[in-house]
Formats: sequence, structure tokens, C-alpha cells
Amino acid sequence: MATIDRIDEILKRHWGYEILRPLQREAIGAVIGGRDSVVVLPTGGGKSLCFQAPAVRMDGMAVVVSPLISLMKDQVDGLVECGVAAECLNSSQPTSVQEDVVRRVQQGAVDVLYVSPERLMMEGFLRLLKARPPAFLAIDEAHCVSMWGHDFRPEYRQLGRLRDLFPGVALHAYTATATEHVRRDIVEQLHLVAPEILVGSFDRPNLIYSVERRIDLERQVRDVLDRHRDESAIVYCIRRADVDALAAQLRGAGYRAAAYHAGLPDAERKRAQEAFIAEEIDTIVATVAFGMGIDKSNVRAVIHAGLPKSLEHYQQESGRAGRDGLDAECVLLHAAGDYGVWKYIIEQSESEEAREIGLKKLGDMSAYANGVICRHRAILRYFGQDLESENCKACDVCFGDLEFADDALVTAQKILSCVYRLDERYGGDVTAGVLTGSREQRIVDAGHDELSTYGLLGAQSKRLVRDWIEQLVGQGYLEKRGEYNVLGLTPRGWEALRGHETPRLLKPAERPTRRAVAGDSWAGVDRGLFDALRVLRREVARERHVPAYIVFGDAALRDMARRRPTSIEGFLEVSGVGQAKARQYGDRFVATIAEYCRSRALEQDVDPSVRPVPKPKPKRRRRKTLDLKTGLARERFERGESPASVAEGLGVSETAALKILLDWIDATQRTDPEPWVSRDTYERIASVARRVGTARPMAILRELDGAVTHDEIRIALAILENAE
Ligand code: ADP
Repeated sequence: MATIDRIDEILKRHWGYEILRPLQREAIGAVIGGRDSVVVLPTGGGKSLCFQAPAVRMDGMAVVVSPLISLMKDQVDGLVECGVAAECLNSSQPTSVQEDVVRRVQQGAVDVLYVSPERLMMEGFLRLLKARPPAFLAIDEAHCVSMWGHDFRPEYRQLGRLRDLFPGVALHAYTATATEHVRRDIVEQLHLVAPEILVGSFDRPNLIYSVERRIDLERQVRDVLDRHRDESAIVYCIRRADVDALAAQLRGAGYRAAAYHAGLPDAERKRAQEAFIAEEIDTIVATVAFGMGIDKSNVRAVIHAGLPKSLEHYQQESGRAGRDGLDAECVLLHAAGDYGVWKYIIEQSESEEAREIGLKKLGDMSAYANGVICRHRAILRYFGQDLESENCKACDVCFGDLEFADDALVTAQKILSCVYRLDERYGGDVTAGVLTGSREQRIVDAGHDELSTYGLLGAQSKRLVRDWIEQLVGQGYLEKRGEYNVLGLTPRGWEALRGHETPRLLKPAERPTRRAVAGDSWAGVDRGLFDALRVLRREVARERHVPAYIVFGDAALRDMARRRPTSIEGFLEVSGVGQAKARQYGDRFVATIAEYCRSRALEQDVDPSVRPVPKPKPKRRRRKTLDLKTGLARERFERGESPASVAEGLGVSETAALKILLDWIDATQRTDPEPWVSRDTYERIASVARRVGTARPMAILRELDGAVTHDEIRIALAILENAE
């Protein structure tokens, strides 16, 4: 593709990337070729690069329209860190700053300019642009132009004038909203001419989806968080009160969590958001008010503590996980009552149409939660696409984590016939009551205890039967009808009654067990070094007043901890390291890597394409010398020597020396941290450990702002175990 020559080089130089993601090449081609385009890619699909890379390549300035002012600043900071001349202009900036930006635009010193739609359409600014027509116009979050989208913004309608104002300039629209309706509306509203329409797959293969019945919310949330220690996670709750309660429980249990919802004072909300972005806390517990305008790429888990109100919402909220393309988990915890909570809220909507659409979407969401087909496939189908492969290898259904009841057909038939015996006039609650033989007044008064299906599932709990009913709705055997959600049989339900179809019913959920997230994105990565690099990243981010993920994404840090380069040349090989970043803070990262590897005798300059040779088993003889050395080392520690001096004196690594010291502290039940850790430092570590737990040395390291070393923490924790 001759037209996009130099793009690969630009990509490597500024972003440190070598491979384009699906459709990025085509999208970049459309921009450079000057043809209007609409690019639809899921969140995290890499839309920004589609206009940012050509902006560097082409003469003149690219104008990017974006509705989210907070995101705009992050985008600009990110570009500047990559060595791209970027600026933004919006009405929240002081006049002097705006004037300064305008001056730089006039001088032709800006490659990418982010503007809010209302700022762009101001007459003075339009005059300036007419004098210096931009290379192209990119409309980010373009679905905001459509009333059919979920996020219509009236100020976006103004953008329809751009075509007439800048007749020779190509327009490019970017969105993550897939529906055909919205896409057509974008073309129409923006008056695009024969646009290139590029629609990517909406599948996010790195997201691992699972659904669990909510049995013990705190326990289930903690299970997920524990799989992602010291990593970022978002927990969404339906109600504010739930947010407050869960955040307090998590904090009480030592997790670094904060609450976020519209009922909190602005300052508190802002503080929580900033702490999350700066990675001073790991978990944010929030209502759906949280997330817009947050571009954090390394969120490793998104947990829904209750059913979302539509699959659009679920896709958008869960999609905030793993934007960097690395594995992340999306766990949905739900209970039958969630449906009623939303139903009540939706029924308060003003228009009949809104109520109808709202309930339909809620029904689809509930069907997903109670469904038993591959989660990736279910979401894709909802958005009109399908999954190519049989097994997504990234959801509870495909992992085979779900356990099905053995006699599902007979059980389902009992439920279906009970619905029929109740003349299809009652909802799930009464039906479950009848099946389990409830003595509730309303059931006895109506004479339901006379029915042949009364008590047919008496051995099961009402709650389980209620869940099974939802599962039958989810699989299309039953449907909810009318204002009161009365249950009715579908044609498929009749087929099951006749024994021609077998529904799948989940076994009673006990404690959910799930395998840990496993992906090869960790292959060859030294986790200790990764943690050390995260601490450095946070330090650099603080100095430069940018969010941590703008310095480097998790993918880049993992690649560093895998390759462990010794030089800047080697550092530039790391995916995600461009020249500007290598120049600005490469030395510090290389030095941290060197120090870490030296103290642990770790190999450096590893080529990840070469498979590691398995280490030979240690010979017996070595074991003997080690034992001898252990004895000698213990004597030296008794005399108060440091691990470094013991390591040097006995010719063992510092890690080995430290390990001997820790074992010795354990064996002798020492309670005095000195001389290895000063009393003062010990007290500081101990006080944090009492709060966050002794199993989280990284969390302690971060709480203490890196003012203590990792080794000091390990020694202090060993002493603390003996002291308490
Ligand atoms: P979107 O706007 O579509 O949600 P972004 O443009 O924010 O997605 O990209 C998501 C993440 O993927 C960012 O961290 C970005 O730097 C990274 N990324 C984009 N393209 C590539 C690529 N070709 N190789 C590696 N990482 C990429």
C-alpha cells in the first residue's frame, strides 16, 4: 500500500508499536487517501491511532472533535509523551491558555488539535481554520451525533455544517457503537460522501466473561479482587447505598478501595477518580456514573454486583477492562430480584416508548445472565455479529465451569406444566411458590394448593426454582408477558413439554469455583520486576503530572520484564516504547531493570522469540554446599551482618541470603527487627500491614511511597509474624 508508506516507521518511532491491529491499516489508508470514512471498532480496538498516526505523517494540522473534556487532556498528554505536537482547546481552559494554543495553531506548530464541538463551531475559530484548512477532521465518539445512539449530544448536530464550511477537507467518524441505524445516521448527519465504512469485530477475545449467582456478594467480589492483587478493578453496583456498603466492607477487609457515585460531594468523587487513575487505590466501587471519560488502559477486572439494565450498558461497562489487549476478567453477579429493581425504575420513565424499549432491553440482559451459551457469542449476536470459532476459550461456558442438572428435562417439564396449570396468568414468584409447595396466603387463598403441580419440586428451595424459571426464560422456553410479567409458554416451551427439546438447567450454585485467569501475556515475565517497574512508572507519572498508564501501558511493562534490556537500543525493542519515551525516561527504567536483575542473578537481554531451555535439576553435591553455606550464613546473621554482606562473603545471591535470613527469623522466633530494619521503618511497615494485611507486600510498598525497600518489607513482615 504505497499511500501509507512511512506509517510503520512512524508507528515504531512515536508509539513503539510494530504490528497494526485489525482494520487500523485500512482506516489509516482512508485518512491518508483523503476519503471520508466511518470506523466502528470496539472500545480498546485502537481507534485513536487511526487518526493520530496519519496526522503525524501528513502536512498540516489534524482537528479531532471529542466530547469529553477530561479525556481530551489525557489524549493530548499521551501524544506529547510520544513526541507528537498535540494541543487541546475547550471552554474549561483559562482564556490565556486558549490564546496560547490559538497562537501555536496560527504558527503551524500543532500536528493534532483536540477541540470540543462547541469550541470548534465558534465563529472566530472557524475563521482561523478557514485561513489554514486542516489536513482532515476526525470526529471521535461520532455516535453522539445520532439520536439513536445511547449518548446523543445536541452540540454534535452543529457538526453537520463542517462539510459546507470545509468542502475540500475529508471527514472521518469513529465510534464503538455498532448498530446499523447509528451508522447510517452518522453518514447522513455529517454529510459524508461515499465514505469508506469499516466495521471491526466486536469481540474482545482478551476479556474473560463469567456469570455467577449472587450468594455472598462480599466473598465473591473479594475472590475476584484476590486474583488481581495490586491491580486495578471496577465494581459496579445498581444503587448508591450498595456502593457505600460494599466500599466500606472492602476497605474494612484491607482492600484499597473507594466509593464513587453521583450522591457524593464533587470533591470526594474527584479524589476517588484521581486516586484510581494514579493507582493510589486499586478498586473503585461505583454506580454507572463512573467510567465516562476514563481512559485507563490497565483495568484488570470489572465486576457487576448486580444485573445491568441492558446489554449495551453491560458491553460498555465491562469493556472498560483490558483496553490494553491483555487478559482481563468481567464477572457478572446477579440474583433474581435485580430484574424487579430495574423494572420498577424503567416503569417510572416518561414515555410509553421508553418504557417499552427499556423493558425489552432488560429482558435481553436477563436472558444473557441466565443463558448458557458462550458469553462472547451471546454478546456478539445481540449486536448482529457472530463468533467464528466454536469455543471462545474465554468464558465460563466454554471453560466448562458451569455444572448442569442431570434431570433437566423432567425438571423443566414440571415447571412448564405448572405455568400451564396456572393458566399462564402468574409471575415467577407465585409459580416457584406453587412448585415448592409454599403455604403462602396468596397461594392457598387462590386454591393453587389443589393443583396437580403443587409441591412437585418440594425438595428444592424456592430460590433455586425461581432461578430455573429465569433460565427457561433466558433460553426461550418461557416468556414474560404484559405489565405484570406473567409467565407464558413459547412454541419452544411446548416442544420441551412434548420431550422434543431439552433445556439446560444449572445445578444449584454452591460456592462458585473458577479457574484463575491464564493467558500467555505473562509468559516469560518476571513478576517481581514487573512490580518494581510499576512503582517506577508511578513515580515518573507523578513527576510529569500525567496518569501512570500514559507513561507506559501494562503491556509495555510486561515486555520490559520479559526482555530485561541492558541498553537503550534494547529498550527500544520493547513493544510500546517509542523514541521520545526512551529518551525521556529510558535510562531510569534500564537502571531499575539492571539493579533488579543483578540482585537476583536474572538473565538479561532475553529474546522472547526463543523458548527458554528448561533448567537442569540441581545435583546432589550442590545441596550439601548450600546447607553448609546456610549454617555459615546463619552465624553471620547472628553477628548482625546484612544480607548483602553475607551474600558477598559466601558467594551466594542476595535473594538466597535474604531467604536464609527469613527462614532463620522464623526458626528463632526473633521479634527484634534491628539491625536489618530500623525500629522506625519497622513500625511504619507494621502499621500499614495491620491495615492491608501481611500477604500484600506490593500494596505496602506503594502505601509507603517506595520510601522503604522490598527487602525491608519482607524482613519486617517476618518479624511481625513472630511478634503478633
Ligand atoms: P479505542 O479508542 O478504540 O477505545 P485506543 O485508541 O484507546 O482504543 O487504544 C487502546 C489501547 O491500545 C491503547 O493503549 C493504544 O495505545 C493501544 N494500541 C492501539 N493500537 C495498537 C497497536 N497497533 N499495537 C499495540 N497497541 C496498540
